[in-house]
Amino acid sequence: MANETLREKQSRFAVMVARLILHAGELGYEVTLGEAWRSEYEATRLAKQKLGIKRSLHSDRLAIDLNLFRDGVWLKTTEDHRPLGDWWEQIGGAWGGRFNDGNHYSLAHEGRK
Ligand SMILES: [Zn+2]
Repeated sequence: MANETLREKQSRFAVMVARLILHAGELGYEVTLGEAWRSEYEATRLAKQKLGIKRSLHSDRLAIDLNLFRDGVWLKTTEDHRPLGDWWEQIGGAWGGRFNDGNHYSLAHEGRK
């Protein structure tokens, strides 16, 4: 990973997300896919509304928002995501629950999460 390019890192992240989704199933959750890639235009728009940051990792294809369900109930809080977030961090990811964005799973890049 020492000389990993951004493109290679994006692919490593995609495989990590696949594992995350499978792991969620093993824990008895179902997921649906939320936002993954975000255009610079959308990132700027959200940043103006204080709903995101302009240099979002979504724009670098290094973040995804997952919707979590159990027994048909949409689990929306950061705490709901903690079992998955803790596991995600163990495999090297950065979890948005550390900054009150529990459904956000990313791979840190240039100091951003
Ligand atoms: Zn996100």
